Amino acid sequence: MKYCSLCGSQVRIGIPPGDNRPRHICDHCNTVHYHNPKVVAGCIARWEDKVLMCRRAIEPRYGYWTVPAGFMENEETLQEAAARETQEEAEATVEVGDLFAIIDVVRARQVHMMFRTRMIGAAYDAGAENLETVLIDPDDIPWDDIAFPSVRFALEMWLEDQRRGRVGLHMTAFRAPRIQD
Ligand code: ZN
Repeated sequence: MKYCSLCGSQVRIGIPPGDNRPRHICDHCNTVHYHNPKVVAGCIARWEDKVLMCRRAIEPRYGYWTVPAGFMENEETLQEAAARETQEEAEATVEVGDLFAIIDVVRARQVHMMFRTRMIGAAYDAGAENLETVLIDPDDIPWDDIAFPSVRFALEMWLEDQRRGRVGLHMTAFRAPRIQD
């Protein structure tokens, strides 16, 4: 951040009084601009015994496989965000169920919240950000071509819960080098 988003003046980096870490400060309008992690909501969407996966048509990780997920918008709930992303990215309508994975993606400054989700009807298609969308048998998941560690973790935990017939909540953190979002 170089300029204040409120008044357009140049900002400086400094530690505000009473704070303990550097922030972007505007001395013109006395605004401190805080930057905090963003929330990503996503789905493992199931239809019969298959899961919905998408192959990315955008960087980063063009051509690699992911599941429907994206940044939460203002004035929506986590579950609404997960359903909206699934509609946009996979053109599938889902009933969002339980939260089952929380993943800190530390360097990317994101927290991913993943839901167990059931498709309402078998319709799906590639959204604008994907080369293709498929319903895939868990035995055929392309593990060598998964886009992000967070997606791999979510798929692994989801499959483990399915195998063991349980409903768990799983947490992990990844600290891989920052990628552009
Ligand atoms: Zn300002």
